[in-house]
Amino acid sequence: MPTVPEALALMDYGPAPESPAIALDWLKDRAFGHFINGAFTKPGETFAVTNPASGAELAQVTQGTDDDVAEAVKSARAAAKGWAKLTGGQRARYLYALARLMQKRERLFAVLETLDNGKPIRESRDIDVPLAVRHFYHHAGWAELLADEFPGMRPHGVCGQIIPWNFPLLMLAWKVAPALAAGNTVVLKPAEFTPLTALLFAELCVEAGLPKGVVNIVTGDGRTGAALVAAEVDKIAFTGSTDVGRLIRRETAGSGKALTLELGGKSPFIVFAEADLDAAVEGVVDAIWFNQGEVCCAGSRILVQEQVAERFTARLKLRMAKLRLGDPLDKSTDIGAVVHPTQLERIRGLVDKAIAQGAILHQAPMPEGPGSFCPPGLLTDLGAANIAHTEEIFGPIVTLMTFRTPGEAVELANNTRYGLAASIWSENITTALDIAGQVKAGVVWINGTNMFDANAPFGGMRESGFGREGAREGMLAYLTGDEASGKERKAPEALSPLPGSATGDAVDRTRKLYIGGAQKRPDGGYSYAVPGAQVPMGSRKDIRNAVEAAHKASGWSKVTGHNRAQVLYFLAENIAARGKDLGPKDEVALAVERAFYWAAWADKYDGRVHSTASANITLALKEPFGVMGVICPEEAPLLGFVSTVLPAIAMGNRVVAVPSQSNPVPALDLYQVFDTSDLPGGVVNIVTGPRAELTDTLAKHDDVAALWVFAEPETCRLAETLSAGNLKPVWTEARQRDWSGPAGQSRSFLRRAVQVKTVWVPYGA
Ligand code: NDP
Repeated sequence: MPTVPEALALMDYGPAPESPAIALDWLKDRAFGHFINGAFTKPGETFAVTNPASGAELAQVTQGTDDDVAEAVKSARAAAKGWAKLTGGQRARYLYALARLMQKRERLFAVLETLDNGKPIRESRDIDVPLAVRHFYHHAGWAELLADEFPGMRPHGVCGQIIPWNFPLLMLAWKVAPALAAGNTVVLKPAEFTPLTALLFAELCVEAGLPKGVVNIVTGDGRTGAALVAAEVDKIAFTGSTDVGRLIRRETAGSGKALTLELGGKSPFIVFAEADLDAAVEGVVDAIWFNQGEVCCAGSRILVQEQVAERFTARLKLRMAKLRLGDPLDKSTDIGAVVHPTQLERIRGLVDKAIAQGAILHQAPMPEGPGSFCPPGLLTDLGAANIAHTEEIFGPIVTLMTFRTPGEAVELANNTRYGLAASIWSENITTALDIAGQVKAGVVWINGTNMFDANAPFGGMRESGFGREGAREGMLAYLTGDEASGKERKAPEALSPLPGSATGDAVDRTRKLYIGGAQKRPDGGYSYAVPGAQVPMGSRKDIRNAVEAAHKASGWSKVTGHNRAQVLYFLAENIAARGKDLGPKDEVALAVERAFYWAAWADKYDGRVHSTASANITLALKEPFGVMGVICPEEAPLLGFVSTVLPAIAMGNRVVAVPSQSNPVPALDLYQVFDTSDLPGGVVNIVTGPRAELTDTLAKHDDVAALWVFAEPETCRLAETLSAGNLKPVWTEARQRDWSGPAGQSRSFLRRAVQVKTVWVPYGA
């Protein structure tokens, strides 16, 4: 025992272990089956769940089979009607009860989570469990307000939910609470490594008197997850790796199942010269050394401005050396155990590759076992193509690069296929907000990092997935009610290509494509005949050219809504002026009304300021995707085109549109209207031709950020399957819409034309 002066000189921490007894007692003599229809099933074939800090077995848990999943889905289906029929207020009571019961068992949940996952007790106790509780409280409120706030919407039905191992209880709360609030029932599959807190939660469902079958939990590995994806569910909500997300996108294509994906990230942590460097160093601790770096939105790429890089790096190394790695149950531990030896191996493998590619690793030596421990690490001297910069390591390893100008910072920040989060550190509010507007990320923290709240939308752009969790925006992912209800669409007749112009006239009257604000002949030089006209037979190459033109028209996404509205009003007037040249009188009249309608929205579909549980203004901004593809409906050639293309551009997107195949003439004739309406070239591009083939190219194109497909089922399925490449969100509608009625100007067109960027700005702190 050191004397007081010695202790003061050392300033070391004494051990402060939390007892595991409360969780071990709960685990003792428990045999875990699945939780189906309000009760635990008998255990089937089981596997061991271990404590990553020691390797010791904690429990045996059942491997879910296809039959188990089917049984759970059946139970959820049987419960769905009754649960949806309850009033929002009645459902809210159950959610409040669950929140309170979780609160009562906070300690048990925290200790169990730490034993199962390896995360420090400080984090499970102060972050995971309180946030999970907050999610249930918050969503109880949404249940209460559902009818008022989401009129005309209804639950999907049965939701299959698959969650990862990094925040087992919190991810459960993110998935289950909004689903139940909206009136869905659920089948949840926790991760193989960390199923225990979900099983404890199942007991709370019984205690809360939740109707049987509303929540079902099936444990198992990826095979169980795959069975759930294939099962008769109405929606899949997945959090996990981008590879599995891609697989699920393909598996669910054409099934009509709603899908939200929250996937990986490689989030930049940008430090400007004028930043409070000490705060930024502390920020790195929270960004990448929190939860052992096993965080999808971890700030895993530090970008620091050159003139402060040396100072910053020196301070960072000092701070890193002081982090305490060890027993996750010790309250003064900063970094606990990595979830599983396989994950530790994966981290080591990626770091070895990064070193082989020239990076320098700064890290304390790996401790000897038992347990899967990985000291915090910093990789420097690496190029932008180094694997540590491109691949999600999902461990406590951060990379560091420098930049000179803000422009270079943005370029480096966006030089990734992901788009989940970004942290920006600057004491200059102009710089910070300017950069926030330019980074491609679903969540941006200014002078902060890894802040979460049930009332802050969370989710990604690009290959980090689509859909939001939390807040009003997250509720929308669990509701439906805007789908078309008309006849199923049929494929248009196959086209017979004709070389060049085949009208036989001396003057070539073949219509042309409209690309980059100019009329273009199709690349292949072919056309096809429609009643009264020859129209171009567009091909892959034409789509690529159109995407390039749309890409170049990026100024449109930056102009104000007011400016866009003016152009659209002018466009509406010019459609009216062209009148019957464009199509039947009634359809033209409706198209004019529709154009005025979308013009009116251009500066009004704005974001929100969310009230979160910390001193921030949390902005939920609605940003355009960038370049969108729109496969317009075959029916209503003019009105369908105007109803789909105009909301997309009103929100600031640039569009590559494929009009009705059998009658694209009204859409092609609009080029003169566009030209006279001050619409910048490249904002709307029109490619006519074989829709399925053109959809194929748009769906695969990496530079197309979102796709709408109003087409027959097979083309819808094709679009969803092929979109898995860059994981663009795809809105497909295989049933006809009544374009002349309110369905033709549903609010969902606006909602699907934007992606939410959540920006956390310090305020009043
Ligand atoms: P996965 O994406 O494999 O796991 C996420 C969830 O999906 C788990 O419940 C998993 O089951 C399940 N699953 C696995 N395969 C399928 C499938 N074919 N169909 C349906 N569900 C499936 O992530 P891992 O756990 O394998 O981790 C690998 C890497 O993924 C990590 O190193 C990290 O880079 C990244 N990752 C990212 C996360 C994020 O939040 N962005 C979260 C977790 C991992 P089970 O675990 O039982 O096999």
